[in-house]
Amino acid sequence: MPAPARPAEDRLAGYEPVIGLEVHAQLLTRTKLFCACANRFGAAPNTLVCPVCLGLPGALPVLNRQAVMLALRAALATGCTVHQTSVFERKNYFYPDLPKGYQISQYERPLATGGLVTIAGTGGGERRVRLARIHMEEDAGKLLHEGFPWSGEKSGVDLNRAGVPLIEIVTEPDLRSPEEAHAYLVALRAVLLYAEVSDGNMEEGSLRCDANVSVRRRGTPALGTRTEIKNLNSFRNVARALDHEIARQVAVVEAGGEVLQETLLWNPDRGETVSMRSKEEAHDYRYFPEPDLPPLAVVAEWIEEARRSLPELPEERRRRLASEYSLPDYDASVLTQERSVADYFEAAARASGNPKASSNWVMTEVLRKLKEDGRGIASSPVSPAALAGLVRLIDASTISGKIAKDVFERMWATGEEAPAIVEREGLLQLSDDSALAAIVADVVARSPEQAASYRGGKAAALGWFVGQVMRQTGGRANPHRVNALLRRALGEAKAPAGR
Ligand SMILES: [Zn+2]
Repeated sequence: MPAPARPAEDRLAGYEPVIGLEVHAQLLTRTKLFCACANRFGAAPNTLVCPVCLGLPGALPVLNRQAVMLALRAALATGCTVHQTSVFERKNYFYPDLPKGYQISQYERPLATGGLVTIAGTGGGERRVRLARIHMEEDAGKLLHEGFPWSGEKSGVDLNRAGVPLIEIVTEPDLRSPEEAHAYLVALRAVLLYAEVSDGNMEEGSLRCDANVSVRRRGTPALGTRTEIKNLNSFRNVARALDHEIARQVAVVEAGGEVLQETLLWNPDRGETVSMRSKEEAHDYRYFPEPDLPPLAVVAEWIEEARRSLPELPEERRRRLASEYSLPDYDASVLTQERSVADYFEAAARASGNPKASSNWVMTEVLRKLKEDGRGIASSPVSPAALAGLVRLIDASTISGKIAKDVFERMWATGEEAPAIVEREGLLQLSDDSALAAIVADVVARSPEQAASYRGGKAAALGWFVGQVMRQTGGRANPHRVNALLRRALGEAKAPAGR
């Protein structure tokens, strides 16, 4: 059935989307949730398996304490209430990547409920997204549809992922736009990374997202029928899929139809959702308490231990950077999206004594080069101390800001420190008036027309002269001195009024 055309923007604006997200995060444990197999991505298929995670008869699960600790950290970092007793249950369904025929999860009594994640709202200000729950469960295996000589005729199954520990983090339906959903994911990922709960790597599947979405006419309190979108494997796809699905639902409602409750698959190549199955209800899974595991009793000391092990979290750090270093909120939020970036900035800011300049360099040049190279800040060829050295050279007027950009490129390519490059390449800023005055005089003498125009009151002509002097000096001239000398040479007395 072809989808109805996307409604016009003013029609869309008459509807309010209501979005809830379910995020699955793999925990950074050494071993799986209920057995001693390694929890590691990228091994040869079916090499990290044992009778427990293969679901062989008679094998019994044993809960991984480290997984519980990491789940507790996630719960505390998002302000959830941890429940003293939670219960593992069997979620029964058949799929080829699930050898046991059920997944061990938590249902009626989850580990934690009722947290909060703060995001920047679409209309400005902060929005608090309520978390319904965080529960623990095991991952399933993975079907392999491509990359083998027999692909195309049949699919393979890799059970290395079967039994890998997950937490599922479920929001209340508090999000009101694809942008807010995106902001929530960015904020949640930052919390999980700071707390060292998950590596947050979406390409490797350690963070996965499903979205529930419905629309209602603005001003109506009743919720519309929702659909669930699966297979959202990047933040960008979450926003794209939601945008598409919201428009589809509005089109259905506008045409007098009814949105069906169903599960949809997002196809990123075609940019559309396709129906996967009518929505299953909880009772379809025949949940019942896992008979091979006792209820999970979390003792107070574990919660204390988890709380003590939490570092400063992104929101706290954002507020601290803004106040301690007098940074704009924008800078503070960019710099704190990753803990390692915030660490890098703070080291550079302290060493340079100029936080705002350090922030500018990190946000623009450093992050840009890291993205180009596809590497993390931990392997940056320019250390925080080296960046601070560059900032100090600019602040001392030893080099111009323009030259500094070139010096930075060379530092990145060679790993050398700024002073060594500046000295060897002769890039010292020309601040000496006697040397600059000769160049200024020469430029003025050769451009009588522009000089007359400046003297005639066209202030912008000064910029043209500055450009000429910069060109003559290969960008090394100190712009403040050049401005002063040009004004003098062009006749300060005859400069435009108001200077
Ligand atoms: Zn195993």
